[in-house]
Amino acid sequence: MATSGTPGIPLAQPVLGPEEEAAVIEVLRSGQLSLGPRVPAFEQAFAARLGVPHASAVSSGTAGLHLALRAVGVEEGDEVVTSPFSFVASANAVLFERARPVFADVDPVTLNLDPRAAAAAVTDRTKALLPVHIFGYPADLPAFEALGLPIVEDACEALGAVHTDGVPVGGRGHPAVFGFYANKQLTTGEGGMVALGDPAMKERIDSERNQGRAPDMGWLDHDRLGFNYRLTDIQSAIGLVQLERLDGMLADRARVAGWYREALAGVEDLTLPCPDTAGNVRGWFVFVVQLPHGVDRDATVRALAERGIQSKPYLPAIHLMSFYRERFGHREGEFPVCEDVAARSIALPFFPAMREGQVARVAHELRDILAR
Ligand SMILES: *Cc1c(COP(=O)(O)O)cnc(C)c1O
Repeated sequence: MATSGTPGIPLAQPVLGPEEEAAVIEVLRSGQLSLGPRVPAFEQAFAARLGVPHASAVSSGTAGLHLALRAVGVEEGDEVVTSPFSFVASANAVLFERARPVFADVDPVTLNLDPRAAAAAVTDRTKALLPVHIFGYPADLPAFEALGLPIVEDACEALGAVHTDGVPVGGRGHPAVFGFYANKQLTTGEGGMVALGDPAMKERIDSERNQGRAPDMGWLDHDRLGFNYRLTDIQSAIGLVQLERLDGMLADRARVAGWYREALAGVEDLTLPCPDTAGNVRGWFVFVVQLPHGVDRDATVRALAERGIQSKPYLPAIHLMSFYRERFGHREGEFPVCEDVAARSIALPFFPAMREGQVARVAHELRDILAR
């Protein structure tokens, strides 16, 4: 229901050009749509970008999380300590292995899993930690590493982010999972990548994404359980082009974020994404604001929609989703920081090609709605 004559502003919009089109057509004409040369080419280019020895391309971020958890040895009955303030896939992937996601509260500033809360949630059944670099802001990996447990990083929102020590997020050697859905910093439509340091883990992931096929054996020899989590050559070809664009797209996102910061400065009790501190660099993914306490979040989303602006509650707390409540008996009050932030957060339109005038319009309408 856009106001008459004014085009609406979408939440997200990928950057795709003639280069992606040409790359796709080239794959189609080659006749090799899957298990071809673009997959390893994309993996190698991605690994080089992060400065890690290996990367395994997979069909989605969720598939990557599943295989990474298996690769660090998560099995039935194990516990994995993770964030309740994340996209549901990070906890679901733990459940795929009949292990248990054990949530701990988040830091009120960065919104990432709080290392002290995580440490307190560790038991003798904890097999791994699954920190999430939420909204592209680097999680405090050194603090998690100090706990001495295997780590899987959910870096699906954090391509382009950098840790305080200058290491890119995903470049520390733990299996770190990226996602390439159409709203992410880099897209292949659907897709994902596990960046990692250990060649044995790379071998296991490559086998398990391909039905458990033994890499050095014939086509039909399967020496372990596997899945079909393969990325196609079409997707990999798009990914290779997107990697070339990545620095430009990241810079565009950072510029749009800067416009938002200026345009929304001084709105009373509106919390903007935390600025980069201590040398951390956010890889901009979404622009999420926390509405003032007492404001009706869903009514705000509806009012923005009536003015032609897409927004959405982002993110709901995982432990309060009906499936998690019913399965694990979770209830309100368990993770107060997460619950407070989740109840007040909305994602505003945010994409590389967004213009300053569009940012100004979103900010104007939001200010107007909040002033009512
Ligand atoms: C996007 C995302 C994923 C993976 O999503 P897919 O759609 O499976 O690629 C996982 N975790 C987080 C935090 C995400 O934002």
